[in-house]
Amino acid sequence: MAKVKIRTLKCPYCGGTDFVKGYQAGHGGIVSAERPLTGTWLYHTICLSCGSVTRSYVTDPLKLLKKKNSDNYKNNT
Ligand SMILES: [Zn+2]
Repeated sequence: MAKVKIRTLKCPYCGGTDFVKGYQAGHGGIVSAERPLTGTWLYHTICLSCGSVTRSYVTDPLKLLKKKNSDNYKNNT
């Protein structure tokens, strides 16, 4: 998978420019709809000034695809 560089320049809510990264604790992860029992952490980028979550993401989205689809995706890119 190609690495995509994503930058959050400014909080859309308060205009803050300082952020902290965190992830959902406990059972707050993402579970795949295609592959039961497969899940991954849900990470958040949070504005330090107002606490708004400006971005939510997973680090390995391919993990959530069915094994077969995941392999196809990797072969096509
Ligand atoms: Zn903010």
